[in-house]
Amino acid sequence: MRIDHLIGGKTVAGRDYFETVNPATQEVLAEVASGGAAEVDAAVAAAKAAFPAWAALPAPQRARLVRRLGELITAHVPELARTETDDTGQVIAQTGKQLVPRAADNFAYFAEMCVRVDGHTYPTDTHLNYTLFHPVGVCALISPWNVPFMTATWKTAPCLAFGNTAVLKMSELSPLTAARLGELALEAGIPAGVLNIVHGYGKDAGEPLVRHPDVRAISFTGSTATGNRIVQQAGLKKFSMELGGKSPFVIFDDADMARALDAAVFMIFSNNGERCTAGSRILVQKSAYPDFVQKFVERAKRITVGDPRDDKTIVGPMISPGHLAKVRRYIELGPKEGATLLCGGLDAPLLPDRVKKGNYVLPTVFADVDNRMQIAQDEIFGPVACLIPFDDEADAIRIANATQYGLSSYVWTENIGRAHRVAAAVEAGMCFVNSQNVRDLRQPFGGTKASGTGREGGTWSHEVFLEPKNIAVSL
Ligand code: NAD
Repeated sequence: MRIDHLIGGKTVAGRDYFETVNPATQEVLAEVASGGAAEVDAAVAAAKAAFPAWAALPAPQRARLVRRLGELITAHVPELARTETDDTGQVIAQTGKQLVPRAADNFAYFAEMCVRVDGHTYPTDTHLNYTLFHPVGVCALISPWNVPFMTATWKTAPCLAFGNTAVLKMSELSPLTAARLGELALEAGIPAGVLNIVHGYGKDAGEPLVRHPDVRAISFTGSTATGNRIVQQAGLKKFSMELGGKSPFVIFDDADMARALDAAVFMIFSNNGERCTAGSRILVQKSAYPDFVQKFVERAKRITVGDPRDDKTIVGPMISPGHLAKVRRYIELGPKEGATLLCGGLDAPLLPDRVKKGNYVLPTVFADVDNRMQIAQDEIFGPVACLIPFDDEADAIRIANATQYGLSSYVWTENIGRAHRVAAAVEAGMCFVNSQNVRDLRQPFGGTKASGTGREGGTWSHEVFLEPKNIAVSL
């Protein structure tokens, strides 16, 4: 199979191609066009040409087309989920029941929202001020590989619904479902040039895209290192930067331990641990620590590692051999730093024949982790849990905040005052109290510190995809 660029509603062949590989089997899934500055120029020009008519279309008409795209995704859930699972190694239970249906929801939600963009009024004795919100223009949408279809649609839906046009660049490691998104957008009746897709590597296709003078806004999801690079290179543009994390999952001794345990296991091992909001530092109050550690390890040992196409599998393969090597390096490092390896480690998991060559690592648990260790400070982005004991509330807050990151956080306690105090004190864009990560599309999603700038979701997506204008009328 060949995957080409989508520019101005037409497939455009690459001058060069790279392979996208199934991380469970190492089978080559497709040859993908490898774009560069020329393809980016053509895609931005197509998006620029399509912008005036798309922006001028009355919002209810745009909404109808955007909603239709969501409906087409819903009609193709099994196919898209299978493709996403094959391309990324994300297990079918997640792609089929959560991630692809959620992608359809993104379009339904922003179709609804774009017809209700409110303005503000600021009357004075002499003037009436009011605001209008205009679409920004051509937007660069850049996605990582971990949940690519969900991320691409989380960006494309508000971008298009609010009247912008887009150039989407997927990760070179997981481009397949986005290619289908382009086809479905045309099938939904979204005009040619409104959504363009350039495939390729970050340096070849991503860099010229973010530097392009006709790109007015960048919605980027990816690593902190790349986010920093983009901010330095892009010049004056609107930004949303959704970057890495090392989120604290804080459990006090009065927590509902059964629920906390379920959520802790889910937040580090689901999505193969390749999750930006993973609760990768599990902080447990000392009085509850020994019992929690024992139960957590029992659960981790029972996790099914296997074929991501099997709906009983919880942990599938890492996205690439390179990423597997990175995760394994941290597993090797843990004991050298003084952490206690309780399960997992570097042994090969027992695997079904079909996936024997996959990029697998066992769910791994480190106890007695000191927050200053590298395994506690770096984003490993794999199924590796760090269990860290703490003394009291002040100690928990200190450890939770002793990190460069600030994406998500989790607090477990039955003490309502403490729950609110810790939620307020933790330096993160999001805090879930007595809950795993549960998304409502109206929430501001995003992080602080090295986890990014800007928020997306609900009216927060106005920040990047709409330009407010104040109009002052003399009375
Ligand atoms: P990455 O930064 O390596 O790549 C992300 C995207 O940026 C890819 O499409 C890549 O090709 C592109 N890119 C690379 N260099 C570029 C450049 N110089 N200019 C423009 N584009 C460039 O990240 P990754 O390894 O694909 O993804 C994993 C990271 O993403 C993790 O750090 C994870 O936490 C983060 N992430 C964050 C969120 C969030 O919402 N905060 C969600 C998912 C993943």
